[in-house]
Amino acid sequence: MSGRIPEIMKAAILHAPLDLRYETVPVPAFSDGEILIRVRAALTCGTDQKAYLRGHPKIRIPGALGHEFSGEVAAAGRAVQNVRVGDRVACVHTAPCGECFFCGKRQPNLCETLTDRMAYGAYAEYIRIPEHVHRQNCLPLPPGLTHEAAALTEPLACCVYGMKQVNVREGETVLILGDGPVALMMVALARLRGAHSVAVAGRHKARLDVAAAAGAQRVFGEQSAASEILDFFRPRGPDVVLECVGNPDTWRLALSLVRPGGRILLFGGCPPGVEVPIDAGKIHYGHLAIYGTFHFTPVEVREALNLLESGSIPVYPLITARVPLSDIPRYFSADAPKDYLKVAFIP
Ligand SMILES: [Zn+2]
Ligand SMILES: [Zn+2]
Repeated sequence: MSGRIPEIMKAAILHAPLDLRYETVPVPAFSDGEILIRVRAALTCGTDQKAYLRGHPKIRIPGALGHEFSGEVAAAGRAVQNVRVGDRVACVHTAPCGECFFCGKRQPNLCETLTDRMAYGAYAEYIRIPEHVHRQNCLPLPPGLTHEAAALTEPLACCVYGMKQVNVREGETVLILGDGPVALMMVALARLRGAHSVAVAGRHKARLDVAAAAGAQRVFGEQSAASEILDFFRPRGPDVVLECVGNPDTWRLALSLVRPGGRILLFGGCPPGVEVPIDAGKIHYGHLAIYGTFHFTPVEVREALNLLESGSIPVYPLITARVPLSDIPRYFSADAPKDYLKVAFIP
């Protein structure tokens, strides 16, 4: 079954690092088990920015960028039963295989084929979704939820999964390092879990204002000293630190600020090969628990969509601009506006 699908479309194609072109390409072909989604909104994300700057081992070049999106089913292969043409859907770009070592260990976020068979290329009018992805992770859009909001499902699922690892509990004190979209979603999630004091340390005044509006009781700007942060969490330091920057200095800062017996979530990824010297005694005698986190499972995709539907995540402060897809090269160029959080591209 299929609606009327054109043969060509507009898309933002990465030809080489720093060479992103808005151009006309063929609409992706799809097999009997696959579907084609008409993209209605696609968001900027650090992963796409990194791929633009230096390429990415899992992202095909030349190929379309973009992986945070929402839209409607434009066409479905003959064997598809779970969705129908015309359905408004929230969809993420990956899903586990269910058969590999990690899927067998119930860690499908680490599935060995997760990034080999993904739906990449949401900066386009249409995106093809492989069968195992749409079967598991393509969900009907709740009425009233906009496509832009639904496009946050993927990054929010990552945050929900990370938050489960470090398990912030009612009454705990939480320090969030960073003021990007992830940090701001973490503010809302920590508050929803009943955290007692949530503080955010970042570098951008406008983003810290968003953090305060999202429920942070205190924000610390670039000029703030570590001692000021510790003073807010007196006498011992925060119970939990969420590192949402991905920088060796902030990883170490997280370790130096958390209280003895506390927990750290290292959400922000440092570039490959980076080593971070740490105070071994602080971890041993301080009985610290340090968590890494990667991606999410289909469970968190549903939880994220439910959270968005419930209105408990402040969507529009996170999506700071809404522009036509043709504007995309500008947002990836050197003269891109610097102060945005996420931009929604509308094909
Ligand atoms: Zn992303
Ligand atoms: Zn697997």
